[in-house]
Amino acid sequence: MQAEVIAIGDELTSGQRLDTNSRWISRELALLGIPVVFHTTACDTIAAGVEALRAAVGRADVVIATGGLGPTADDLTREVLAAVVGVPLELVPEAVKAIRSRFARRGMPMPESNRRQAMLPQGSRLINNPTGTAPGIDLDCRRADGTRSRVFSLPGVPSEMHIMWRETVQPALLAMQPEAGTIQFRCLKCFGAGESAIEEMLPDLIRRGREPAVGITAHEATITLRIAARGADAAACAAAIAPVEATIRECLGPLVFGTDDDDVEDAAVRSLLAAGQTLASIEIGTAGRVAALLAQAMARSGDGHTVPAVAAGYRGGHVLVPEAARSGDTAAVALAERARVEFGTAIGLGVGAERPVADGRRAIDIAIADIDGTHEIEHVVGGGPSLALARAAKTATDLIRHRLREGEHS
Ligand code: AMP
Ligand code: MG
Repeated sequence: MQAEVIAIGDELTSGQRLDTNSRWISRELALLGIPVVFHTTACDTIAAGVEALRAAVGRADVVIATGGLGPTADDLTREVLAAVVGVPLELVPEAVKAIRSRFARRGMPMPESNRRQAMLPQGSRLINNPTGTAPGIDLDCRRADGTRSRVFSLPGVPSEMHIMWRETVQPALLAMQPEAGTIQFRCLKCFGAGESAIEEMLPDLIRRGREPAVGITAHEATITLRIAARGADAAACAAAIAPVEATIRECLGPLVFGTDDDDVEDAAVRSLLAAGQTLASIEIGTAGRVAALLAQAMARSGDGHTVPAVAAGYRGGHVLVPEAARSGDTAAVALAERARVEFGTAIGLGVGAERPVADGRRAIDIAIADIDGTHEIEHVVGGGPSLALARAAKTATDLIRHRLREGEHS
């Protein structure tokens, strides 16, 4: 079984937006053992869409298309699909209902233009979109010689597309190759080293064609290692995943902070709650990011933990801008101590202002204060402006987990 991936949109062909969907989908297809033979990008015209789709259907067994399913007049993928198969579009009541109820949940009537999104090519199957209005389309295309190609058409919005992939497309592709059994994933989240450094620490695990496959991705300095195992059933997959997970944890040690949807701040809050400790922060160089991360993680941790929120966790913080922070002691260590005192918490976290260091580089001091004293690190600022801020804030946040972990062993 061979696949082709099609990306549709003027914003892609004009270079205004990078086609990240095709890359994501191709990686997913690789995990399912389905090779991708073509990537095609088409603009938002019926002619271009039809030409791209027709070629794809002629040479690939499965075609995954994204984009062009919006409610506006420039979203033409529905028309393109209907034209390629030679069928009319018809209003699908089930789709109208789904779109209307999405608007109803937001207390709004469905705009008339959204009715277009419920028009699907005759004979196609609807792909439910749990987080957006545009339903996807699953369509069989018969070739002149009687063989078929199956097209899955998904919205361009990456987050919507990802969920629809997991819920509908991936299971459908697995069902198309029953001999392949099932697939299970396990994500390990890491922080504190770069993607390539982590890759080097995992000899041979990330090699192409390995089983189970291990994929590595990075988002705002958080590295995700995803183990994908194929097997006859879920238990067989889990058995294949376990030794690989153990190897990764052994090689990376404390760089691994969690699994699946966790981020650094969730791990920090979890260790605070587990240790029954309270924390407050005062930050300059991270512009409120540390407080935002920790407050959001506290909100997420709301249920499921046994420690009452008042007894442990993040209690709050101050955000100072460099101009306003000039008076008083702005050393990270002093900020950490001050946070502890002002909020009456066991632990204080202090983030100093960005300052120049050698070779034109810049650094931010980050300190933790607790009953045992203070601990300070120098974080060298790196990456583009938005990545640099995210990295610094996550580095500060991750220091909490490391500090509490050390406490465990002493
Ligand atoms: P559409 O389904 O064409 O209405 O696309 C909705 C939005 O998804 C677009 O405005 C883009 O911002 C985004 N998008 C569409 N196609 C892609 C793609 N191939 N890669 C990344 N983002 C995309
Ligand atoms: Mg579009």
